[in-house]
Amino acid sequence: MKSISILGSTGSIGTQTLEIIRDNPDKYSVRALTCAKNEKLLAEQIKEFRPVFAVIKSEESAGRLAEAFPETTVFSGREGLIRAAEDQGADIVVNSVVGMAGLVPTYHALKAKRTIALANKETLVAGGALIMKTAAENGVSILPVDSEHSAVFQSLQGFDRKQVRRLILTASGGPFRGKKREELKDVKAAQALKHPNWDMGAKVTIDSSTLMNKGFEVAEARWLFDMPEDKIDVVVHPESIIHSMVEYEDRAVMAQLGTPDMKIPISYALGYPQRIPNTMDPLDLTKVGRLTFEAPDMETFRCLALARQALRAGGTYCTALNAANEVMVGAFLRGSAGFLDIPEVLEKVLDAHKSGDPQDLDSILEADRQARASAEKLLSEL
Ligand code: MG
Repeated sequence: MKSISILGSTGSIGTQTLEIIRDNPDKYSVRALTCAKNEKLLAEQIKEFRPVFAVIKSEESAGRLAEAFPETTVFSGREGLIRAAEDQGADIVVNSVVGMAGLVPTYHALKAKRTIALANKETLVAGGALIMKTAAENGVSILPVDSEHSAVFQSLQGFDRKQVRRLILTASGGPFRGKKREELKDVKAAQALKHPNWDMGAKVTIDSSTLMNKGFEVAEARWLFDMPEDKIDVVVHPESIIHSMVEYEDRAVMAQLGTPDMKIPISYALGYPQRIPNTMDPLDLTKVGRLTFEAPDMETFRCLALARQALRAGGTYCTALNAANEVMVGAFLRGSAGFLDIPEVLEKVLDAHKSGDPQDLDSILEADRQARASAEKLLSEL
């Protein structure tokens, strides 16, 4: 029996994690559930899963939940989130917080020697050097939940990591695959939110449409698997059946395939090194018919190139890129920035960024703050 805490339990990954727990009551119990503001759904989750702790951002919401569920201890705010991350009662902390907000709880969970199932890629984009150093110092494993990284992780099992030649991350290409810059000038958030294959939250779906998501995943892979940026390739694979691959020195390539359903990588992280059976329809390759591949269009989708550039530059460039991207994705979702403004602003923020120490939490938080401010300023001038 494993005890699971879920940071970000009301989001897409959080709710799917709870579905797996619901289907496997003999294997898992819920230790803590946290969310930012979806009080109604959190209340339903507390009612069903009876966690020891629950955390919600607002003090007022926490008060109401504490009254409704006297058996659950309810905390609020950032301190509450850190408390849940550090709690020694959890065997695995699933971090599915959205954005940079996931970094600090990951850091505290690692310091408290908790195994992390990481769905929050921004943690590694913004603070990869610090996070991997902290994990190593505390002897803690970070299990990937992101489907590509889970595929790489699965394709590494039983092989010598020193013999890896390169990683090949697959990308669906998102809803605008095949379009040119000119055609993307006036696209709206609603169009970008229609992902062809994956059912995900709004932030990651917009990032998929700009290919920033793939850029971030290159950074995530760089840290998780300790691979240099130039040994991580990206190939567009619109069917999303091969979730990523590992090439070895003898040119053998190992891949992990499956229906595009986040429950597969989530359950691999929860069960690792075991596999958890489920009742999902099996992959039918005759129905899929064919698997196709193409090179990413880095000129139209400049965010991927910018992410690689920031990763090569090192320091806190990826922190700045991530921060500015959060500002711009928020603005695009609100309708106050165009699709092509996103890379435009990001490039300017990177150009102006004064890099700091990527192994120091305060310097990462400072880089994040500055890049947000400079993106907001550029946004107001659009
Ligand atoms: Mg992914």
